[in-house]
Amino acid sequence: MDRFWPELDSYEAAIMGTVEISVDRYDWNLYGVRAVRRGSERSIHFPMGFLIANLYVVWGMAANELAGHDKDLGLDYIHEISDVVKRSVRATNAGQRPPPMPSYGEFVRMSEAEWRRLATSEQYMLYVEAMMGDGLAFILAHEIGHHVQGHLDGPASSLQEELSADNYAVGLSINSGFNPILAFTPFLLFAAIENDTGVYDGTSTHPPGLCRVVMMLRSGSDAALREEGFMEYLTENNLRDEWFESQAELAALPDEHGMDCPESRTR
Ligand SMILES: [Zn+2]
Repeated sequence: MDRFWPELDSYEAAIMGTVEISVDRYDWNLYGVRAVRRGSERSIHFPMGFLIANLYVVWGMAANELAGHDKDLGLDYIHEISDVVKRSVRATNAGQRPPPMPSYGEFVRMSEAEWRRLATSEQYMLYVEAMMGDGLAFILAHEIGHHVQGHLDGPASSLQEELSADNYAVGLSINSGFNPILAFTPFLLFAAIENDTGVYDGTSTHPPGLCRVVMMLRSGSDAALREEGFMEYLTENNLRDEWFESQAELAALPDEHGMDCPESRTR
């Protein structure tokens, strides 16, 4: 939130000054980051389940990238993670011991040594740090968008409000020095959950989470150049082309999954 303050106008800052941001420690919901308004009380809630699952997704996608694996293998891992979290909740509720969360290395059956080498490399740390920071910043900026755009004053939120909050989040992220290109991991997680539950009714089985990934890749391409530490590192180590190839692979996912993204999402 610190990096957002200087970018808020006085109206937005006045609203956000009243918003309490909290992590709900006992909320194991994977999907439910939410902005809430009750009269003059405003808040943004991050469920612990989402934060933990997203952490694993970030670890997994960083490893998937560095190992040069197919993106679909990364998506399979994300499905596994959302599945294990759901089973953990059921087990905990039934007073049983929750199943262990598999690492990406375990999931793809890397050797112990290979996994350790990858997961302790400097590149891996940088990928993780960048994806984690930019992903959570984007989610927070999206919820700020709901607060400052008055979406919480009416009854339920609409698709248009979601798109508008996404657009707001892209602008705020970029102005605050975050990079929406690297903010895709929470949306891959949402995509996996939507696919499991059929939550989204706009397409038959395929999730719009993937569409949001593409929207962010496109709007973030300029901002990529400003992500100093990360992009400099990529350039110095000749990883730039590889990184952008991998982004192109992500951008192709909706097509490959036969998805037709709503036009305004992929502006
Ligand atoms: Zn929203």
